[in-house]
Amino acid sequence: MAYDYDLFVIGAGSGGVRASRIAAGHGARVGICEDFRVGGTCVIRGCVPKKLLVYGSKFAHEFEDAAAYGWTLAPPTHSWATLRDNVAKEVDRLNGVYIRLLEGAGVKLHMGRGRLMDRHTIAIGEETVTAEKILIATGGAPVVPEIRGREFAITSNEAFHLPELPKRITVVGGGYIAVEFAGIFNGLGAHVDLVLRRDRVLRGFDEECRTAVHESLKESGIKMRTEMQIDCIEATNGKAPFTVHTQLGGMFETDLVMYATGRAPNTSGIGLEKVGVQLDKAGAIAVDEWSKTTVDNIWAVGDVTDRINLTPVALMEGHCFADTEFGKKPRKADHRDVPSAVFCQPELANVGLTEEEARMRLGELKVFTSAFRPMKYTVSSRQQRTFMKLIVDAATDKVVGVHMVGDDAAELIQGLAVAVKAGATKAQFDATVGIHPTAGEEFVTMRTARVEPAPRQKAAE
Ligand code: NDP
Repeated sequence: MAYDYDLFVIGAGSGGVRASRIAAGHGARVGICEDFRVGGTCVIRGCVPKKLLVYGSKFAHEFEDAAAYGWTLAPPTHSWATLRDNVAKEVDRLNGVYIRLLEGAGVKLHMGRGRLMDRHTIAIGEETVTAEKILIATGGAPVVPEIRGREFAITSNEAFHLPELPKRITVVGGGYIAVEFAGIFNGLGAHVDLVLRRDRVLRGFDEECRTAVHESLKESGIKMRTEMQIDCIEATNGKAPFTVHTQLGGMFETDLVMYATGRAPNTSGIGLEKVGVQLDKAGAIAVDEWSKTTVDNIWAVGDVTDRINLTPVALMEGHCFADTEFGKKPRKADHRDVPSAVFCQPELANVGLTEEEARMRLGELKVFTSAFRPMKYTVSSRQQRTFMKLIVDAATDKVVGVHMVGDDAAELIQGLAVAVKAGATKAQFDATVGIHPTAGEEFVTMRTARVEPAPRQKAAE
């Protein structure tokens, strides 16, 4: 049977756009649909606008430090409307770039929500198209727990469009989005309450790094409300100020509540049940190592599969799929040693194993750490510290984890991720000459391993 397309992609975010462009480059006839804006979470309401807000908020620290370097500034004031609108303009520009990239690649864009009608047919509004192969790349969306008054809370989706920046903002959650936005709002001058149900932020990251971030957030003036769960949010005549009631009976007032308690894959309303695409236990689309779903001609990439929910991972998965299915270059996405960063202030970035993971998986370790006050802050009186950590497998001398909390951590770790991916040893790190004076040189001059507890056996033994 002749289909309209060789490939039809549902969702024009990072993974979907990459897959469609690469497939078209391999000669496939490709269509794609999008029900919101081309570019997806990353470009429209995630990584890109978030990083611009981080840049905007960081000026507050720069202005403070400038005085010790001899600058006299009039007390700086900030216009949220200017920052918000300039960020929105950049998002519009990138949205246009993405649309042109699709056009340039010969991919036909259909605006509207795609729904699978059968294994080869997709309805987009009133329109119906057919395709030999289908890729689902519908991403994820924020989840807000079912508490009373949840309708008064916003999520990161709305945070980019606030009419004004309230004086008091409560951020709920202790993950990536919560700590990033707590830092943004704090830098822009709001009083920030960060409410988290654990004792520290960023569960899953290296424990020492979690502590370093937690202490830095506290030091920066954010009120850390730990081991706290929210019972309900009450509003005054349906609007701010809000009273936040905790499960233990406490309460406090705030002008805005933003929930950042995780995201869930966008799997409903796209006809998955109809064609037999199965979900895993966590509600994500179940895929094999080739990103193939339980239906033979349907694949899925990115956050909708809930593997590692990062844009570059979705790009990798989409690219591998397109090369494999349309480029005669079969390759699987490699989810090992994926570096990542949290753009809190200061940043946390890492690649490879946490110390806790390394202890579970490997035998004896050598752990090197360094904690210091960055040179820039020796002149100004900022109390911010940098923390670095190398985790080495003692048996092979391979560096299996690199972690950093400090300014520009993400930029530094990106470079070191190449070394870790290439299997570099600690001896090779030691043989590398540092660049002086930088923070990064610490990574090649850590000489003394931390005194280890008694050697443990591998978990599997
Ligand atoms: P995360 O999964 O990172 O964090 C969710 C947080 O909310 C955790 O602290 C969790 O606590 C807490 N939480 C969950 N449910 C509740 C609840 N019912 N009540 C109170 N707290 C709760 O999710 P995010 O929303 O921050 O981010 C989603 C994903 O987006 C991330 O996994 C990441 O992959 C991606 N992302 C990446 C960024 C980057 O690369 N810089 C930036 C932003 C997002 P607990 O630990 O106890 O479960």
